[in-house]
Order: sequence, then structure tokens, then C-alpha cells
Amino acid sequence: MSYSQQVFDELSARYSYQPEFLQAVQEVLSTLQPALDKNPAYQKNKILERITEPERVIHFLVQWVDDKGEIQVNRGYRVQFNSAIGPYKGGLRFHPTVNEGVLKFLGFEQIFKNSLTGTPIGGGKGGSDFDPKGKSDNEIMRFCQAFMVQLFRYIGATVDVPAGDIGVGGREIGYLYGAYKRLTTSYEGVLTGKGLNFGGSLARTEATGYGTVYFAQEMLKDRGDSLEGKVCAVSGAGNVAIYCCEKLIQVGAKPVTVSDSRGTIYDPNGINVEILKQVKEVERASLTRYAELVPTAKYTPVAEYPEGKHLVWTIKCDAAFPCATQNELNLEDAKTLLANGCKCVAEGANMPSTIDAINAFLASGIAYGPAKAANAGGVATSQLEMEQNASMSAWTFDEVDGKLHNIMINIYKNAAETAKEFGVEGNLVLGANIAGFRKVADAMIAQGVL
Ligand code: NDP
Repeated sequence: MSYSQQVFDELSARYSYQPEFLQAVQEVLSTLQPALDKNPAYQKNKILERITEPERVIHFLVQWVDDKGEIQVNRGYRVQFNSAIGPYKGGLRFHPTVNEGVLKFLGFEQIFKNSLTGTPIGGGKGGSDFDPKGKSDNEIMRFCQAFMVQLFRYIGATVDVPAGDIGVGGREIGYLYGAYKRLTTSYEGVLTGKGLNFGGSLARTEATGYGTVYFAQEMLKDRGDSLEGKVCAVSGAGNVAIYCCEKLIQVGAKPVTVSDSRGTIYDPNGINVEILKQVKEVERASLTRYAELVPTAKYTPVAEYPEGKHLVWTIKCDAAFPCATQNELNLEDAKTLLANGCKCVAEGANMPSTIDAINAFLASGIAYGPAKAANAGGVATSQLEMEQNASMSAWTFDEVDGKLHNIMINIYKNAAETAKEFGVEGNLVLGANIAGFRKVADAMIAQGVL
């Protein structure tokens, strides 16, 4: 049995109750064997056993009082997965589905993604099963303060630097930052995604969505193609999806769908990003509101989706951008996309495609950009925010966006060249995994058994 299979089997037995974590590990380990064969030092140093176990998991009680005066109880976590190449870095997710296994999947992915950015940041992730939906501003503030009362002692500008993720945007980061400052009396770049007037970076809000489009452009350029004139299916209607749509329009493509947890919008004329921002960022409303404001848009609730499929992936498109959440695109969806002539899939969300959907994309030979490469622009720009905070400077939008663009070009090159080195040209899953892994594994060996 191969080394990678043996480690995976052991993990599967130990963590059978963490399916998302095992799925993320399986996706990575199933591609690493050629790199492990090439360098026996990885097995000798038990790198796989060490890199699949978080260095530390902090699990804490979050107690707060809602607007009715009732005490509410949530669970909070921070998974500090790997610090071989830099301080832990990764977002916080507030969503009822959050548990340790989900955060371990996200933290594990983050190790390789952060390595791929070429910047010195380790992997981490955190969050809570708190549901921000329907909560007042004051409730959000009190929850964020209660969360930080527990978290503040474990993070710091050179220790662990959280950012946003699902359910954590600029508003939540602002409240979390204020609470950290009050508890520590320290004004430091301990969180990224901050407001522009207190240390935030221009282009951080846009970075993940823009970066995913830059990555798709690179994949297509290598195939003598471009996004210009392409019809694009986008899922999600949050931070990543909104700015993915915005950049697609800027480069001459046409996003025709967006979705949230309740339904999908389809408009063959293209998504109106300004109205989408108004609905989602300002009003924090459902997409039914978008359909009210844009008469050409058709709204379909989840209950009316074709059985076993996501409506977004049934729409005929040239390129697909899953930007909502994990496992939102299954094998049936992948087959439908391919049958409809989709030539490019770039993942803005983390682990949006199931493993058999990924295999279908790889077998078809289309341009497939896996999440840890295609959505790395968000964390890369968070690192640029850390750089600006450390030097007490603020760069222009164009400077940050230019650096982001270069980082995405380099991530693509690195993944594509690594795939070529291992004889599987075009397989960016293997390329990204091995390129991300080697840097971290070599640093772990150099630093000894800690
Ligand atoms: P947001 O909270 O801003 O938006 C999430 C969107 O996805 C919403 O439209 C939400 O719908 C939808 N969604 C969430 N959960 C589900 C679900 N279970 N079923 C259907 N739809 C769902 O989050 P982001 O845009 O920040 O994150 C989206 C994805 O991108 C996540 O996978 C995240 O990990 C990943 N990502 C984010 C980065 C960032 O910088 N923000 C960086 C890299 C990756 P609704 O509003 O109805 O809940």
C-alpha cells in the first residue's frame, strides 16, 4: 500500500465523523504520491502524518444576550493548522453548519493555498455555529464581542491573523477588531478585511472574486482562448460571487446567474452588479428582492430545482464559477455542464465540487481551476493588508489590484509547471497540490520535529 493511502486509511478510521475534512484530505493525498516517491525524505520525516493533524484546535463557549434579553449559547473554534511558513492565516465562518470537521477541512486547504500565494503565511481557519441571518446590528456586535473575549489570547499580528468567510464581512470584522483592541489595548493588524479608515486595504473586498476571474483568464490564455464574449454561470450571491460577476463584466464576459441558499436568479441579459450589491450588501435581502428590481430576471426557489441538481449548473454556459459553498456541484451537475459545452470551471468557493465531479472535469480535459489555486486571491490580498499594516502605509487600489493580478498569474504558472514536471500537463489539481505541499513540507523538515 502506498504511503499516502496508508495515512489516509488511518485518518479515515480516526475521523470518520468529519466527512468534509476527510474529503479535503483525500483530494490532496490522492495527488501527492509522485512527489512522495521523488523525495523519500517526506515519508522518513512523517510529513503526511504531521501535516494532516492541526497543530492546535481551540474550542470555546460563546455566550451573549439577544435583543429580547435571552441568553444565547454558541460554539466557537479556531483551528491553527500549520505554521511552517508563517503565522496562521485564514478566515472566520459564522454559519449554523460550522463544526470542527468543517473548519478542519477549510484549515487544511488553507495550508496549501497560502503556500501557493508565494507569501509567508501558514494555514488556519475558525468560526462559529452562530447564524447571522435575521440578527440585528446590536446582536451581531454583541456576538462578535463575546467571540473575541475568548479568541483574543490566541491571535496576534505575527501569531494568527483571521479574516472573513461565509457570514463574516466588513461589519463583523469591524466589531471583532474593536473588541480585540479594547481587550488588548493594542492597535495592530490582527485581522484582515478591516474598514479602509482603520487599516483595511483597498481591493481586499474585491480580491477573491477578481482573483478567480484572473485565474480563469490565465487558464484560457494558455489554450488560445479568452473570457471575452463568454456566457458565465455563477453560483452564490455573497462577497466572492458579487466581485466575480463584476470582474467578468469588466473583461467582456456575461454572468447570467447568481444564487443564494433559497434560490437562483437567471437573466439571459446578464446580472446587474449594482443592483445585486444593493440587495445583498446594503439591504441584506433575499434574491427575490433582486427579481423585484430587475424585471427580466427569473427567480426559481430551491424547492423547484431539478432533482439532484443545482439549477445554476443546468443553464447553458461557456464557463462556470461556483462561488457559494462546499459540495454545491456534484457529478450530475458536472455532466450537465460538460454536455452543455462548458469549457472552463474556476472555483471561487472552497471545495465546491465533489470528488467525482472534479474527476469528470479532469477526464474531459476542460480548463479546471481548483479552489486552492483559483480563489487564493482573497488570502493573498489579506497578506498585502498585513504588509501595509506592518509598514504603516496604504497603497492605491491599482497597486493592490496589480499585485493581486501578478500573484494569480504566478499561482497559475506554478501549478501548470508542476503538473508538467510530473507528466500530467493541464492537471492543475495535482500541480497546485504538489506545488503547495513541497514548500510547506521542506520548511517542516528544515525546522525539525517540534
Ligand atoms: P458570503 O457569506 O458573503 O456569501 C455566501 C453565499 O453563498 C451566499 O449567497 C449564501 O447564501 C450562499 N450559501 C452559503 N451557504 C450555502 C449553502 N449551504 N447552500 C446554498 N448557498 C449557500 O460568503 P463568501 O462569498 O465570502 O464565501 C463564499 C465561498 O467562498 C465560501 O466557500 C468561502 O469559504 C469561499 N472563500 C471566501 C473568501 C473570501 O475572501 N470571502 C476567500 C476564499 C474562499 P445565503 O445568503 O442565502 O446564506
